[in-house]
Amino acid sequence: MSWFRRAKPANPFAGSWACAGCGEVHQGMMDLAALAPDPWPHERIQEPNSAVRLDGDFLSEDFCVMSGRHFFVRAVLEIPVHGQAEKFGFGCWSTLSCANFEKYLDGFDNADFADWGPWTGWLCNQLETYIGADPEGVHVYPQPDRQRPTLRVVSPGHRLAIDQEQGISVERLWEMLRFYGHAPAKRG
Ligand SMILES: [Zn+2]
Repeated sequence: MSWFRRAKPANPFAGSWACAGCGEVHQGMMDLAALAPDPWPHERIQEPNSAVRLDGDFLSEDFCVMSGRHFFVRAVLEIPVHGQAEKFGFGCWSTLSCANFEKYLDGFDNADFADWGPWTGWLCNQLETYIGADPEGVHVYPQPDRQRPTLRVVSPGHRLAIDQEQGISVERLWEMLRFYGHAPAKRG
């Protein structure tokens, strides 16, 4: 076989692939997602978004309220992956001030907000070796077209802020996915 016919290594995230870690079939770039902020004290059972209330405890796909005093939104923290068109996404929860939370609720259905931030918040989910038990300061960017808000780590020296800026290798992504029990498809 001549050198020029040597194919580039197959994109491990092309199409659907059978995960050698968890045994499920994943689609394309795989994301990780948290169903609730880590401090959520109850079972992670979600009510409909439309039932949202600002008192007591509430959890839905996109909103969370604790003790009527702490307000969270489901967001996505993206990390570019070298050589991949799609970014890796970590679905996670950030706090918002009560005022910004109400702004988010008001604009949610039409994805039209009184202002487009960035709002400030605290990321309240652990992420592999990036984020530990302590919440991390983030900027929250509401998105058009009913996309979930995106997060950027504020502290410029934080490893996650650097990786969000510069991207990570596919190997580093596998390291992170392995942490959660996923592994590249067995080939051949
Ligand atoms: Zn898996």
